[in-house]
Amino acid sequence: MTDTRIVREVLAEATARLRQTSNSPRLDAELLLLYVTGLSRVALISGQSDTLSTAQIDHFFRLIARREKAEPIAYITGKKEFYGRDFITTPAVLCPRPETELLIESAIAKCRLFNKPIRFIDLGTGSGCIAITLIAELQAAGYEVYGTAVDCSAAALLVAYQNARLHGVTQNINIIRSNWFDSVAPEGFDLLVANPPYIPYGKGSSPELNFEPEGALYADENGLAAYRTIFKQLPHYVKTGSVILFEIGFDQGGILLEQSKKDVPLSVTATLHKDLAGHDRVLELQVL
Ligand code: GLN
Repeated sequence: MTDTRIVREVLAEATARLRQTSNSPRLDAELLLLYVTGLSRVALISGQSDTLSTAQIDHFFRLIARREKAEPIAYITGKKEFYGRDFITTPAVLCPRPETELLIESAIAKCRLFNKPIRFIDLGTGSGCIAITLIAELQAAGYEVYGTAVDCSAAALLVAYQNARLHGVTQNINIIRSNWFDSVAPEGFDLLVANPPYIPYGKGSSPELNFEPEGALYADENGLAAYRTIFKQLPHYVKTGSVILFEIGFDQGGILLEQSKKDVPLSVTATLHKDLAGHDRVLELQVL
């Protein structure tokens, strides 16, 4: 006979175990149990399926053990939700983060201003979540849109391609291996988006970061190196009216406003946008 345990007990035990490592132990336990059982959240919470097999329980606690060592849920389950869609997520790419959704909102808010079809570039695309979400959202809003997604990591581009296929946008995305602009032909893009590495070396704050690609997180020059490289090359990739949107560290708004004045060889207006936590999170440059 198979030994069974009920969902409530298993979740309570797992939640208690995750309290040390996670800020969201209950949610983490639920996500991992959904992954193991294939149930929907509604079915799980309503108790429609109340018992778990020994095999399911063993599998679940093996995943809980990984999470206890701070491995991000996205790498354990191989996916992460971003702006309402699931993205394949492997350790070759940064886990999509909720604060990055502000970049999408800021971009969508600008798209009425652009020539049609809209052409944009996403520098350091990683999982492709920014570029793919932009294409899917702008298409849903009735725009014709083409995105160029670049990354210096071939392993990341493979994930980006899989995600483009998953979301049906391969016809509208051009995936290129390039270190920032190095292999991108000059073109006046309407929109440039980037979530570059911006954590100063040695300043990483959570153990989860140890699982993510270093090159996607940390940058020299106190976290500003990637912005400065991109700033200097902007004239070859934008035109009058173009909008450039960068995700930035919560405390980098002031310094990046200053730095952009020094490094961007164009007339631009610079604005900061705050995330839901009230932190500066997006730097917008509009080319005059
Ligand atoms: N927002 C991420 C973090 O602080 C960093 C991502 C990045 O450097 N682009 O964990």
